[in-house]
Parts: sequence; structure tokens; C-alpha cells
Amino acid sequence: MNTKYVFVTGGVASSLGKGIIAASLAKLLQARGLRVTIQKFDPYINIDPGTLNPYEHGECYVTDDGAETDLDLGHYERFLGVHMSKANNVTTGKIYNTVITKEREGAYLGKTVQIVPHITDEIKRRMLLLGKTGKYDVVVTEIGGTVGDMESQPFVEAMRQLQWELPDEDFMSIHLTLVPYLAAAKELKTKPTQHSVQQLQQAGVHPDIIVCRTEKPLSPEIRRKIAQFCNVKPGHVIQSIDAPSIYQVPLNMELEKLDDMVLAHFDLSYLPDPDFAGLKLFLDRLYNPVHTVNIALVGKYVELQDAYKSILESFIHAGAANECKVKVHSIQSEHVNDDNIAEKLKGMDGVLVAPGFGERGLEGKIVAIRYARENKIPFFGICLGMQMCVVEFARDVLGLTNAISTEVNPATADPVIDLMEDQKSTTIKGGTMRLGAYDCKLDKDSLAYRIYGSETISERHRHRYEFNNDYLERMEAAGLKASGKNPDTGLVEIVEIQDHPFFIGVQFHPELKSTPEVPQPIFVAFIKAALEYQEKNNA
Ligand code: GLN
Repeated sequence: MNTKYVFVTGGVASSLGKGIIAASLAKLLQARGLRVTIQKFDPYINIDPGTLNPYEHGECYVTDDGAETDLDLGHYERFLGVHMSKANNVTTGKIYNTVITKEREGAYLGKTVQIVPHITDEIKRRMLLLGKTGKYDVVVTEIGGTVGDMESQPFVEAMRQLQWELPDEDFMSIHLTLVPYLAAAKELKTKPTQHSVQQLQQAGVHPDIIVCRTEKPLSPEIRRKIAQFCNVKPGHVIQSIDAPSIYQVPLNMELEKLDDMVLAHFDLSYLPDPDFAGLKLFLDRLYNPVHTVNIALVGKYVELQDAYKSILESFIHAGAANECKVKVHSIQSEHVNDDNIAEKLKGMDGVLVAPGFGERGLEGKIVAIRYARENKIPFFGICLGMQMCVVEFARDVLGLTNAISTEVNPATADPVIDLMEDQKSTTIKGGTMRLGAYDCKLDKDSLAYRIYGSETISERHRHRYEFNNDYLERMEAAGLKASGKNPDTGLVEIVEIQDHPFFIGVQFHPELKSTPEVPQPIFVAFIKAALEYQEKNNA
């Protein structure tokens, strides 16, 4: 069977959830027995989002092979349970970089290098790349941005060309739009969808299916009207109604028969019906929690939900696993100090200190860590959150009052967190951190081992600084145990305090590997500890 390509574009507005629709379709096709992957084409000129401030573009997601990618790849992994790679996220910057490098090498033999055909050829090459590996039956490609944006035009043009270059039965185009409800007119409005599809058709791309985001159900009349005006088959206009959870969307799309339409187009209608027992069990627990816990998320990007996307999703997964609703309270670490910390953490059953870069809000994180440590509140630190555990412990327990990371003060007398050796000669910022999956060996007598239940684990990293092993002996003697280390380099990856009900800091990003059906073990254990803390406090 030839690899099948489905392209997902969006119109009318951004943030309609194109990534969720792409991931839901992929999930449906996977559940029907196909090998599916998803890729995202982003219109911006950065090579990757690794150098972007989270306020610009939300969290930077990291894959096993060390790519810094768009956060939609996190959704793809969480929905499909398969790992993405460098090839799954392409930006305009990457496309131009390749073409310009080839031009300098003389590969174009004196030709004028142009958007069409050279840029579009490179886009097409990348659009087909994963399909050519032979590992997938279906490749779903999400085109970032909104149709009509100047930036995404070359991507849409490449799609237009592929529409004719690939056999009809191997190519499909899905367009996601918004059908707004006007309360004053008490009506759903189809005009924005008509305009968006017109724009797509002007670019020469014909949608096979139109998915309409809506807050109210679409009547058969409205569906017929959109089909008629937008030149698609009746029945190929479907609704994506606001759902209580993004994980409900694959089931909603199944009800709308999205998978049946796609499989009919690909001549694969004979495939068996999907089995969503695992997903349904997860949703059942999510919708019917028995308990509620309050977790403080202490970070500096808290104003933007997407900045901590994978952490928030991991809490949803871990909550369901504990039959528990997790209420996450964002605390801006810049506003935290010794005088207000008790008030800020009042009623909290657990504290998570978030990853981050730079000085802003750092002292507030340290204050929150101290409070959780001293008051025996379940504590979980991730990356910078782990590094600040080490700083806090060094200052307060070892008496090293100037302890800090050299990221903030390179001249400190006590660099308990210091630049990794191989980072010292690095001057270029993009793609040069310690990135991707590394093994970690756990001490058998530790909380980490009890949580994971195995001696060797693999988690993903994104950092430049590390625990300074010159302080290891003193830290351990005083009660901060290094319970997980890289087996090859000896880098400390996990610290914990054993004289505490639950206090763990990890250098890696466990949130990147949590899925609804396989929740991340530290998050699950943290929520369990928070529940126990709550029960004890209420007793
Ligand atoms: N800024 C720290 C470092 O580079 C931590 C990074 C992070 O939290 N992702 O090591």
C-alpha cells in the first residue's frame, strides 16, 4: 500500500485546535490498525522554537532525539503514544537554511533560486520524507498558521502541487474553520467559513472535508449550506463542538465519522472499528473524580497557560490515575517572598517548582522550596526547579549563603549549580543545550526507585547547567540524596530529601513523556502524596 497523506489547514482564526484535530484523526486511524505519524510545518523563520521565549510561542517541546519543537508535537505524542523525532517539525527557517546552504554549495548550477520551484520543492521533499521511510501507512501534516497568511503561502502552494503529483487516493485535504454563534441574532454564521474556503480554493487547494469548530451543534441545514457554498460533498462538513476535555475529541470525531470518510477516500473501509477502551476508562475517571487536590505551580511564565502545557497535561493524566481532580494554582514566583509565602501556599497540598531560564523570579522559587521542605508539603522540582532545590539546601542547611547557579552569578563563591563541562566552549544559543533522552540509573534505596520500579530509566533533557559534584558529599551527608545519576557521566539527575514525606527534584523533564493512558510515574506519585498530605491535615 502507498503511504497516504492527509493535510490539515486552518482558517478564520488561530487557536482553533488544528493540532488536536490532526492528532484526533491520527488517533482514530491508529486505532483502526494503521501505522500513523503526524508532522507540523510552522511558518516562522526561526530554525526551531528553542530560542523563543515561552511568551512568544508557549512551551518548547523536546523529542527523544533532541529536537526542540512546537508544543503541538506534545499533543501528537500524548494522543498517539508514539515518539516524534526531528523530522516531525519543519519550519520556514529550516527550509530556507537547506536551500541557501545548497545554493552556496553550487547545487543549483547557476540557476536563479526562487520560492517556486526551489523552496516549494524542499517543502515537498520534507512533506514526503516520513512517508518514504516505509514506517507509516498514513502521514498527517498540520500546516501552522491560518490560510491567507503571507508566511504560510509556500506551504499551501507545496500542498497544491502534491494534490496533483500524488495519486488521488493517496492525498486528502482537511480544512478546519470556525462557525461562530452570534448571540444577538441567535444564529450560527457560516460566512467566515465560506470566505476561508474561498481563500484556500484561490490558492488551488480543494478541501475534501471541512471541520467546523462550534460551540453549538450544527443543524443538517447549516451543514448542507456549507457543503453547497464550499464545494464539498454533502456529509463532508462535520462539527467539532467544544469538548470538556481535549481527549474527548477523537471520540467526537468518531461520532462524526471522520475516520470513515478518510478511510473511504483511501479505499481502506474494510479496516476494523476502533477500540477505545483505554481512552474511555481514562475519560471516565477524569469526568468522575472522587477527590480534589490543590497544587501550587510556582513559575515565572504563569500568565500564559501554554508555557507549561506538558506539565498541566501531566497533572490531568496523573489526576485521573488517582481518581482525583487536580486544581493547579499558578503562582508568579516574582511575587513570592518570605513574608507572603505562608499566605500564598495556604490550602495547597503540593508544590511544583517549574523549569525556566534566567534570574527573574528565581529567589521566589527558592522561598517556595524552603517553605515546602520545612513544612513537609509534598514537593516536586523540575529542571530549574531541581537546581533551586540544591541552592536552597546549600544555603539553608549547609550554611553556604552565597550559593547560587552560575547561570545567575558566574562569580559566586559557591557554584552549587554550574555550567556543564561541554557547555563551556559553546557560544551559539540555538540547539546547543543538553537535549533529548538520556538514561538515568536509580539508587535502589530511594523514593525515585520506589516510584519508577526499575533501576534504569530514560527521560528527556533541556538544560546547560548541572549539579556541581564538588558539593555532592556534603549535600548527601546533610540529607539531600542524589538518587539518580547518568550512568556514563555521573551527572546528578535526581535529588531527594529522605526525611520528608515527598521531596524530589529532577534535572530532566518527566512531563514530556506523560500520556492519558500511561501517566508519568512521578506525577502520579506526587498527586498520591498530595492526597495523603490532605487527608492527614484534615484528620
Ligand atoms: N536554566 C537552566 C539550565 O539551563 C534550567 C533549564 C530548564 O529549566 N529547562 O540548566
